[in-house]
Amino acid sequence: MTLMPRPSILAVEPYVGGESKIPGVNRIVKLSSNEGAFGPPPAAVEAIRAMAAEAHRYPDGGATALREAIGARFGLDPARIVVGNGSDELLALLILAYGGEGTELVMSAHGFMMYDITGRWAGCRIIKVPEKNLTTDVDGMLAAVGPRTRLVFLANPNNPTGSILPQAEVERLRAGLRDDILLVLDSAYAEYVTRPDYDAGAKLVDASGTTVMTRTFSKIFGMGGMRLGWCYAPRAVIDVLGRVRGPFNVNAAAMAAGIAAVAEKGWVECSVEHNTLWRAKVSDALTALGIRVWPSEGNFVLVDFGTAAKAKAADDALKARGLIVRAMGGYGLPQCLRITIGTAEECGMVVDALTGFMRG
Ligand code: PMP
Repeated sequence: MTLMPRPSILAVEPYVGGESKIPGVNRIVKLSSNEGAFGPPPAAVEAIRAMAAEAHRYPDGGATALREAIGARFGLDPARIVVGNGSDELLALLILAYGGEGTELVMSAHGFMMYDITGRWAGCRIIKVPEKNLTTDVDGMLAAVGPRTRLVFLANPNNPTGSILPQAEVERLRAGLRDDILLVLDSAYAEYVTRPDYDAGAKLVDASGTTVMTRTFSKIFGMGGMRLGWCYAPRAVIDVLGRVRGPFNVNAAAMAAGIAAVAEKGWVECSVEHNTLWRAKVSDALTALGIRVWPSEGNFVLVDFGTAAKAKAADDALKARGLIVRAMGGYGLPQCLRITIGTAEECGMVVDALTGFMRG
């Protein structure tokens, strides 16, 4: 007898991310995880400090104050918000609750990797739909849906491609799905979008009854280390998530930080302004060097060096200067690197390093 997990578990490639060291390099600039360029808002840092003295107390399992703060900030009913240990946890709970052995999960070919990883944990069959121009193909997604499909995932904007679907396309996707299929709109990068024909998802959640929206404090609020995400959902899904989540899935410091972060005036606006400016500057500078830069609505750009060998050489050149960006082999895009939009100085360092690389 051998101790074995369920077979689908052994098909999972462990997630690799958050790397922050290069052997032999002292000063590291980490642009590999799409973290907010400015770190956490000052009020959130204060809130985390203040919470340390209360560390012996369990957090509020119902997260009432945090849900109310999120509801007030985004104009949503707090009773229809669930918070999680990063939005990753909420994605996993949704898959656990609605997916599992014998079901199918549909996502686009270069959709966010955790849908694939977590779907496999749960035993779902993962259906990856080819994209058009690195953008989700709604017709392809609808054609891929079968009788066993229970979950459809759409990151909008998508990581790592940076592409988005306009609201009309998202609505068309929902309209083409049966009502026993949960559409998960993962809007982790919603704040960064500048296109006017975009909606983060709340409208469709309200309209459809079988759609949820997930959001995170890891990007625009610069709090990836706190692990805090939230989900806006119909009441029936809130009820289900309430049954499958752990009783204290969000810790007290994260809750306090989240409440402070959403109250911070001007934080989102300043961060978006910075991102829009530097996303364009980095894109223009790299394009001028002859590198293909995919249009992005997130806080990162996907850059295409044409071949895997050239992308690897570019990655090495960046690493030699302490710059950590994300190699894209795991996403089936080995000719690409994904670069987070950091501070002005960090963006300048990326452009300098790649200028040297391309001209060298
Ligand atoms: N969705 C997308 C599209 C992401 O890129 C990420 C972060 N890489 C997440 C969800 C997870 O975010 P978190 O768990 O930090 O909230």
